[in-house]
Amino acid sequence: MNDPVNIRDISVKCGNCNTYQTLMSFARNGEWNVYTYECENGTCDPKVTRTLIEVPAEIDAFARRDPNWRGGGKHGEIGDGAPVD
Ligand SMILES: [Zn+2]
Repeated sequence: MNDPVNIRDISVKCGNCNTYQTLMSFARNGEWNVYTYECENGTCDPKVTRTLIEVPAEIDAFARRDPNWRGGGKHGEIGDGAPVD
């Protein structure tokens, strides 16, 4: 068993505008939890600079502790984190 990973311990910085990106959504993709980060400063086009971080579901402490965290939610809103079909 690997050590758990908590996505909240990771900061995501944009290599284009040099500011921290914001966690925008969460989705499940098979064995992976996929977190999407985007720039929110209007400098970057999120479609270009968006970052996807994939964490193996079995070691993802954040999703386990907050199972209701929403896919598609913004600014930490709570939701269902529904699986991706
Ligand atoms: Zn940026």
